[in-house]
Amino acid sequence: MANLRVTNYSAMLPRDRPKFDAPEIRRWRRRLLSWYDRNRRDLPWRQDRDPYRVWLSEIMLQQTRVSAVVEHYRRFLRRFPTVQKLASAREPAVLAAWSGLGYYRRARMMHAAAKAIVKQHAGRFPGGIAELRALPGIGRYTAAAIASIVFDVPTAVVDGNVERVLGRVFGSGLTGEGFWQAAEALLSRKRPGDFNQAMMELGATVCRPRRPLCGACPVRPGCRSDGRAGEARLDSRGRRIPFEDTDRWARGRLLAALVAGDPPPALEPARRERALAGLERDGLLVRGAGGEPRLP
Ligand code: SF4
Repeated sequence: MANLRVTNYSAMLPRDRPKFDAPEIRRWRRRLLSWYDRNRRDLPWRQDRDPYRVWLSEIMLQQTRVSAVVEHYRRFLRRFPTVQKLASAREPAVLAAWSGLGYYRRARMMHAAAKAIVKQHAGRFPGGIAELRALPGIGRYTAAAIASIVFDVPTAVVDGNVERVLGRVFGSGLTGEGFWQAAEALLSRKRPGDFNQAMMELGATVCRPRRPLCGACPVRPGCRSDGRAGEARLDSRGRRIPFEDTDRWARGRLLAALVAGDPPPALEPARRERALAGLERDGLLVRGAGGEPRLP
């Protein structure tokens, strides 16, 4: 995580954006947060800041669309309304309540983490990043999401949506840690949870992968894409780039192979590394001492 004592946040942004200075960052933040205050979706896990509910939503939303999660989320909460109820459940009951969502490893990890919270933290959710990350199935992204949304810890999150927004706003080939630094530089220290949710909301509803709604975007004045992000990606000879050649496709194939225990797809090394780094960032895999990927 970027050093939170850094105060010259604009210095953390890509160097080809000299005009993105402190006043411009403040304006950018204000536009985003006021848009979020007016447009945030009324989702069931946003009704309060209960850590168990936020955690459940963050795990369910990994690799799954909001529309597919809402009903499963309600059903799971009816069955296991508290972390204590989840911790004391038998695994078959947990998996049954998870049915239909797929990637059952997420449910097993939640079950194990619930037991650890009850046993090691007397049933109280830890609020620190390091303590959260020590729990099964909670990686960098999920720990930062829970800490900022529930406990107001000033730490940024980067998921696929945030990465896309930042990539278009800066248009400067951000990769890996650069995304986290850029998000950290823009983060509102006063409203970190709302800021993080606003970034994800913007990526999900406005700065969409295909056909982004640049005309309705609150941060268009500070965006390098200048309304052209929806144009098809073309190679150097002007041909449309097929989906199979994108990093998104590579991530999906790598994860599916890991879940199924199949050999990984053959990918060019740099592309494979980008895809693995993205999955690791989202807490969907971890790497061993030799760098080999495995499920958390
Ligand atoms: S202006 Fe368009 S490309 Fe830029 S952040 Fe907004 S929706 Fe995304």
